Amino acid sequence: MDKKKLATAIDQARSVIKEHPLCSHCLGRMFAVKLGVISHKRLGLKMSKMLGRKNPTACYICKTLMTCIDDQVRKMISAAEGYEFSTFLIGAILQPSIHDRDDLIRSRLRLRGIPSIKSDVTRELGKAFSRRTKTVVDYQSPDITFTIDFKKDYCEVKPKAILLQGRYTKDVRGIPQKQRPCNECGGKGCFVCDFHGICEFTSVEGRIAKFLIEKFGAQQAKINWIGSEDESSLVGGTGRPFFVKLSNPHRRRAALAKKIKLEGVSLFGMKIIGKIPSEPVRFRTTVVMDIETESEVPAEMLGMLDMLKGHEVILHENSRTHRKTIYEISASKKDSRSFTILMESDGGLPLKRFVSGREVEPSISSVLGTVCQCNRFDFQKVAISSR
Ligand SMILES: [Zn+2]
Ligand SMILES: [Zn+2]
Repeated sequence: MDKKKLATAIDQARSVIKEHPLCSHCLGRMFAVKLGVISHKRLGLKMSKMLGRKNPTACYICKTLMTCIDDQVRKMISAAEGYEFSTFLIGAILQPSIHDRDDLIRSRLRLRGIPSIKSDVTRELGKAFSRRTKTVVDYQSPDITFTIDFKKDYCEVKPKAILLQGRYTKDVRGIPQKQRPCNECGGKGCFVCDFHGICEFTSVEGRIAKFLIEKFGAQQAKINWIGSEDESSLVGGTGRPFFVKLSNPHRRRAALAKKIKLEGVSLFGMKIIGKIPSEPVRFRTTVVMDIETESEVPAEMLGMLDMLKGHEVILHENSRTHRKTIYEISASKKDSRSFTILMESDGGLPLKRFVSGREVEPSISSVLGTVCQCNRFDFQKVAISSR
């Protein structure tokens, strides 16, 4: 350490502490950058000794804040109890009067680069908490974030949401895809729904949510679906892809089996991911549709549906139009007024409307020249398109 610089610092410190006593932390902080010292406390203790003061604790700036770091760390540990984490971040809210006094002393010293009391508090808390819990600070994406409000004397902990992707198959009919949100809160979460946002767990959504909420000790599971289906539809093959955001998880390292069997629904390839796509995901579906017709359709007429292959259909929705491509289509007759269609198309094509022709052109009805109706459709495949 530069002796001359230290001597100047001691002189400056002496004049400040005559009016405004400072604890070792705050004293050291004022001169650490100038003297190139990393530990504020150690520098503060050294300077205090040179100034003939023994380990001073009374402090004009922080009162007892810096000397009570350990108490605060104990509060943090108890707030974080029950959460699994290996990284954290701390945010602190200090009394405005502390900032005022800190600014006053810093401006009196006219030294460049003095860290603020707030950055010092969070730094010291972080160091102590890290030591005690064997975890590390992460500024980008911490597992848990503390907010410590010294004004109100509380410590809040918020875990980062867990994001997952997976696929599901539905093996029995009669399970709706989506769950109705809680009547009381509309899905936000309240006491009535135990903060899950849904009160029942009878749908595909409900079953997936229940499983993941229990697995990760989470509060809510918000699902992004790649396409939708009817209550009566089956979903086969490799299943329908979906993304989930799990909020307030207590566990982060739960193991997920390759195949998870729930009631009527199976999950495949569930895994934790870093990000859920923010853009709409393009996908293709392969479906089997059961169709009934108003008038008889001879078997040879069904061949006309071939003309749809490789063509776009235009949907009209709320004065906007969308285009969806039919990639493959084939029909097989069941009896005089019903047949089955196997079709691969862009995802998001409203299948029942494509059959009936309601605001869709061309449609199965328009090609065959008779009113057709789709009573049931099952998914054989839902595949995300690579761009
Ligand atoms: Zn202090
Ligand atoms: Zn609710």
